[in-house]
Amino acid sequence: MIFQEGFALPDPHVQERVGEADLSGITMHTPREYQEDLEARVLSTFAARSSAAVRDRPEPPCAVRPAYQRDRDRILHSKAFRRLKHKTQVFIAPPGDHYRTRLTHTLEVTQIARTVARALRLNEDLTEAIGLGHDLGHAPFGHAGETALTRIYPDHFRHNEQSRRIVEVLEQGGQGLNLTYAVREGIYLHSKARRDIMTTAWGTASTLEGQLIKICDSVAYINHDIDDAIRAGVLREEDLPAEAVAVLGRSHRERINTMVSDLIHFNWWATGEATPPNPPLIGMSPHVLAATNQLRDFMFRAVYQDRRARAESEKARFIVETLYAHYVKHPDEIPEELRRINQQRGEPVERMIVDHIASMTDRYAIETFKRVFIPRTWGG
Ligand code: MG
Repeated sequence: MIFQEGFALPDPHVQERVGEADLSGITMHTPREYQEDLEARVLSTFAARSSAAVRDRPEPPCAVRPAYQRDRDRILHSKAFRRLKHKTQVFIAPPGDHYRTRLTHTLEVTQIARTVARALRLNEDLTEAIGLGHDLGHAPFGHAGETALTRIYPDHFRHNEQSRRIVEVLEQGGQGLNLTYAVREGIYLHSKARRDIMTTAWGTASTLEGQLIKICDSVAYINHDIDDAIRAGVLREEDLPAEAVAVLGRSHRERINTMVSDLIHFNWWATGEATPPNPPLIGMSPHVLAATNQLRDFMFRAVYQDRRARAESEKARFIVETLYAHYVKHPDEIPEELRRINQQRGEPVERMIVDHIASMTDRYAIETFKRVFIPRTWGG
């Protein structure tokens, strides 16, 4: 019998054979082993297996959850994950309750990717863990904040690199979350260059689940940003490029459906039931990919780089740059935990300042800016 951490279930097949008979002396499985066995039987040969997952620092397995489920939970319970609720997606500190935030974006990416992963018999738990973790490193004020930090910080700042730093170093008081390699790699490699959603600015994830998150990130944000831009009055449905609409559909729902269906059909080989392409990478069919890229390009011109958006971005950049200059003069105002991590790792003080600013939510950054730079009335 295998009893791990006091938790065991009988093997259902054994139970079927023995009926009501005495089960003592028969092999028992933990729920984790049962799940791993299920993965081996149900998932595609191209799927990542939890039982083969490798952790940064070895630790005893959980009796209940396979490795990737455990990673998902660690991300979900992290402080960085909770901060996503007050970080910008596109609209800075949006006043309306229906706009996306970095948190709802993260949930949409994850859910779209899980739908495709399940259809293709890939590892849904791994997909979910990468999806929930991919944007943890986003700075306040979205890409405006990221651009500001990239400009100031001599050692370069990118949100995907910061996401990796959070899970590997900053969480748990400097211990990191000790995630598996496949999750950390997927988080780091989700970013892409502007031209094409398929470009690999940092490299290609070694798992199909990691590759899937990268594409589903684009599927989610292109569509929900259109929806939010229409809500904000920045865009009208009829402004969208006609050729892309003809391929993808007129409504939000139709477009997501087209992209998700395309991902499933085009990558059907990933189930193990069709000949894989060479190299075996997750992709999109050429005409849907072209239309998606066209829509993305349109969003850059019409929304992300619109005159009004640029004016707001300038203000956000000013706040980030001003806070950075302030902390260079007053590093003692950085939270104690970050100062301790900085000292232990022997990193330059600028690294700690960037970690602190990048961790801020939009409203925390605005509040800090007000507290430090705006005079308060007496008694107010
Ligand atoms: Mg994202």
